Amino acid sequence: MTTKREKTVKWGEEPKIGWVEAMYLPAVMSGVATAVRHAFSGKPMTRQYPEVEPEIPPNYRGVHRLNRDEAGRVKCVACYMCQTACPANCIEIIAAPALKDDPHWKDRDKYPATFTIDELRCIYCGMCEEACPVDAIELTSIYDLTGLSREEMVFDKEKLLSVFDKTVQSGKDPVRTHRGSLGPASEEAQTASQGPPPPGRGRHG
Ligand code: SF4
Ligand code: SF4
Repeated sequence: MTTKREKTVKWGEEPKIGWVEAMYLPAVMSGVATAVRHAFSGKPMTRQYPEVEPEIPPNYRGVHRLNRDEAGRVKCVACYMCQTACPANCIEIIAAPALKDDPHWKDRDKYPATFTIDELRCIYCGMCEEACPVDAIELTSIYDLTGLSREEMVFDKEKLLSVFDKTVQSGKDPVRTHRGSLGPASEEAQTASQGPPPPGRGRHG
């Protein structure tokens, strides 16, 4: 018996191919034609990296950093939101209670005693940056990440803070997330259509 669902199914016929197609000749000839066309087009197709560095878009998601607050402390409040949001499970945080009689942390409930990100396991999706309620974690424009061992690519808190120091000082990566904003890509679109963003907002705020 034919069901209603089966009546709506359209079956496609398997295309009939001759011996020429079966030997992939048209596909090979098309590939050769493309290669020859590019070879004689006169346009350079190769980037001369590292002599010529690529232009990185403002919403590029490269190596992480942990931002510092105005007092130079790690901005992270150890809420675990980024660790929870991370689909690659590559963030590990151990929180420590902030002692009220400790002048360094008296305005916090917690701070991260340890904070590690496995940069090799990360898929650079940016979910950690999106999830952070205090703009403490960001992905930067650093793309040439290398190391000599897997251990070296597991960044600890000090390393992540040093990425902040390095990128902020270079001026290439200003603090770009601000609570309530949608990120640099949307801000650029807003700037283009409505003029510059208000002070304190936007990528360069
Ligand atoms: S970018 Fe994505 S995968 Fe990488 S640490 Fe952040 S949430 Fe995890
Ligand atoms: S979401 Fe932000 S504040 Fe919370 S643990 Fe991650 S980096 Fe720290």
